[in-house]
Amino acid sequence: MLVELHPADSHDDLRYVVVVAFDQDRIVLSRKHGHDTWETPGGHLEPGEGPLAAARRELYEESGVRPRALYPAFDFTVDGIASRAFVAEVGQWDPLPDSEMAETRGFDDLPDQLTYPDIAPIVVAAARRAVKIRSLPLVGLLLDLDRTLLDHDAAAASAVLAWAATLPQWHGDQAESVDRWRELEARHFSEYQRGECDFPEQRRRRVRGFLPQFAKLDDAEADRLSARYLEHYQNGWTAFADARPLIEHALSVGLAVGVLTNGDQDQQGRKLHRLGLDLPGVRLFASSALGVAKPHPEAFRLACAGLGTPPAQTLMVGDDVDTEIVGARAAGLPAWHLARETARPNSLSTLAELHGLRAWPTPGHRAAPAEHLRPR
Ligand SMILES: [Mg+2]
Repeated sequence: MLVELHPADSHDDLRYVVVVAFDQDRIVLSRKHGHDTWETPGGHLEPGEGPLAAARRELYEESGVRPRALYPAFDFTVDGIASRAFVAEVGQWDPLPDSEMAETRGFDDLPDQLTYPDIAPIVVAAARRAVKIRSLPLVGLLLDLDRTLLDHDAAAASAVLAWAATLPQWHGDQAESVDRWRELEARHFSEYQRGECDFPEQRRRRVRGFLPQFAKLDDAEADRLSARYLEHYQNGWTAFADARPLIEHALSVGLAVGVLTNGDQDQQGRKLHRLGLDLPGVRLFASSALGVAKPHPEAFRLACAGLGTPPAQTLMVGDDVDTEIVGARAAGLPAWHLARETARPNSLSTLAELHGLRAWPTPGHRAAPAEHLRPR
């Protein structure tokens, strides 16, 4: 069963609405007559009924809750079937009306006995995140680039195989080559980030480590091979499908948007352009131009200075906890970790979850001029 989250209002072929209702921190669940499992209120849309009206009706029929707030949090699909999830804050809780439900009450945590055990934990955790995301008093958004906006692993894997196939010395083991290349990239890029070598040198070291026959290549030969890999890599640059919609959303609600990335300003700029993410207003902050790399807190402070946004009101989002989340928090920024492959309650599973972000009004705020940001 595949459960995927999408921005609220992104689907007009909704089959169901689901309401995650919070009574303070407790979540409202109901139990059907003759069953011992619990579920969030929700159900089919009736003919001609809008999703919000359906959510309000289902919530009352199945729990007796009259909400003081009710809003769409996200859409989700289960094996392609679309539903909209609403978040409600309990205003008044009436006795349960006559319905298919036998009982309703508030839970601190989801019980083990769930009617939809494959769906409810994902939807409820995402609803809790949606509540937090909506409440962030933001004026700015900083996004990591590689593996957050760019599908770097897919691009690197297909590039290394295409490149290796042109090398007469290659042994032909695809899985080994992809793993080895990933390991070499991580090791030598870290050396570059720690200042132990320059950017071209970390590329040469990756080439020299790839095959035993390459260990003693001179700089010119390593550069030549590296350039050929790079061509394949650049041809494979693809943005994750949720990247551009999020940037467009953030700009449309008035957030200052920056991309904060460790790497070379020119290369990362070309990347952003190739991905179609260099939308007007998006600022790029690469470590080569900042003079300091993530996770150093100064990198985050400089990027905020460049955006003209206070760190406490600038959200950092990235895929690497040690590089982005720890560093951003040390610099005073709120930060959310993006874990695309593994569902975790405190991590985003997709950038689509950030469509609840709103810019907080700050009279007089404006972005700093570009000169504010100087390489050091
Ligand atoms: Mg990253």
